[in-house]
Amino acid sequence: MKIIKFLIKNIFEIIYPSTCICCHKIISQDSLFCKECFLELEFISPIKCQICSMPIRFQYKFCASVTCASCLQKKPFFDSSYAIFIYNNTIGKAIIDFKFNDQTFLALKFAKIFKSQIQNFIADVDYVVSVPMHKKKLLKRKYNQANLLARNISPEKYFPQLLLRIKNDKAQIHLSRNKRKKNLRKSFIVNPKFQKIISGKKILVIDDVMTTSSTLNYCSRALKRSGASKVYVAVIAKSMIGKF
Ligand SMILES: [Zn+2]
Ligand SMILES: [Zn+2]
Repeated sequence: MKIIKFLIKNIFEIIYPSTCICCHKIISQDSLFCKECFLELEFISPIKCQICSMPIRFQYKFCASVTCASCLQKKPFFDSSYAIFIYNNTIGKAIIDFKFNDQTFLALKFAKIFKSQIQNFIADVDYVVSVPMHKKKLLKRKYNQANLLARNISPEKYFPQLLLRIKNDKAQIHLSRNKRKKNLRKSFIVNPKFQKIISGKKILVIDDVMTTSSTLNYCSRALKRSGASKVYVAVIAKSMIGKF
């Protein structure tokens, strides 16, 4: 029996070889990355801000839970966050392929990592949603990568159309930074059909990358204002550009 299983696995690997999600080199079926890419990945340290996941400098490392200066100054609308990686060129290649190059199968692969890393968030929440895309942008791009991720992370808790994006960011390019921020704040609403459903509920919001956290913060704001009791956010990677 063991031999048959071994043969099937090997024949399957020959017909459908698994490739590294960053550089596309052929690897064994059970892995996501080749050795070289794995060594290039940067994981978020466990010593991080409990709210925004910003890595905390070593002098605070003996505190069980810490909040960074920025969150202490202005607490985000989300209660906690999780990022698997620090954004760098290696993981960036896989994210770009997933987002822009139609490699939608990567949703399954990334969801697998999320499911192993944030079982506690997934088990604790009532619904899983994604950062929505404006319908015009969705028509042009064909799919919303965050949506595919959320759907694969928890098909049972995934709630499509709960959050809506009512302003298209493409139309805002010519606006000043302040106006863009103001517009972004008004970009997200809870679908009026579901306003009453989310009162007192815990919600997990999924996106691919967290850069300034404004987008995730405004999604969380909309959910909190409609009565959500807790909002958590989770992303594949957190960008550290300009943070140190
Ligand atoms: Zn690789
Ligand atoms: Zn923070």
